[in-house]
Amino acid sequence: MSENASAATTSTSGGFDDLLAANRRYAETDFATGGFDGIAHAGVAIVTCMDSRIDPLSLLGLKPGDAKIFRNPGGRVNASALEALVLGVHLLGVERILIVPHTRCAMASNSEAELRERVGESAGRDASWQSFHVIDDQREALMADVRAVRSHPLIGDQVAVGGFMYDVDTGLLDQLV
Ligand SMILES: [Zn+2]
Repeated sequence: MSENASAATTSTSGGFDDLLAANRRYAETDFATGGFDGIAHAGVAIVTCMDSRIDPLSLLGLKPGDAKIFRNPGGRVNASALEALVLGVHLLGVERILIVPHTRCAMASNSEAELRERVGESAGRDASWQSFHVIDDQREALMADVRAVRSHPLIGDQVAVGGFMYDVDTGLLDQLV
């Protein structure tokens, strides 16, 4: 958000012109999944963080169409993630589930009070009511998340479930469980 934002808000699309133009180029040149059925062609589902340093498909050697991807701050297995995984396993061809938090994650390096303070400063108004699901211990959280998937009555014994740490500085994935 900078000079671009103010210039862009005067346009008819409300600031999305550059992205819409890129989308038209994409539809003409790179778009390759037309007619796909929406199942995970590689049988893979990934739960990971929203962090922009993570490219979930590329880091596993996959391509569009191969995997179901669920992202949130921290890459946590919450109720929505479990819902997605149940659908993935039973209706969308998922056979392997990877839970992938990452190094230097903001959700694991800030307290909720710190995040509220930073967001409040950015917003210029009170943010003390906003909850942020910060992570005290990433390994412990990962173990708990893997257990939550493995013990889910509609997922557990049907598929392989692994817990991994992604290193945003090396691009390497380390299996922890
Ligand atoms: Zn993160």
